[in-house]
Amino acid sequence: MDSWSHARCPKCFRSELTDWEEPYYYPPRRVRMLLHFGGKAHRCRVCRYNFVSFMNRKEPKPAADTKGSAAA
Ligand SMILES: [Zn+2]
Repeated sequence: MDSWSHARCPKCFRSELTDWEEPYYYPPRRVRMLLHFGGKAHRCRVCRYNFVSFMNRKEPKPAADTKGSAAA
């Protein structure tokens, strides 16, 4: 239902995204321009594709909602 309200990987269309991890990744100029205009850097966990979207990432669901299981 809400699958289109989050950023998705343009390659595999998954919403399992993280931030750009590579500190040495230097995006092309148009990507930096998108970031400058409020774009958010996303990185696909599956195909490791770095891209910029104006939509937010899908938040990982806090599984600690039902029963407080403080394991470990
Ligand atoms: Zn992907």
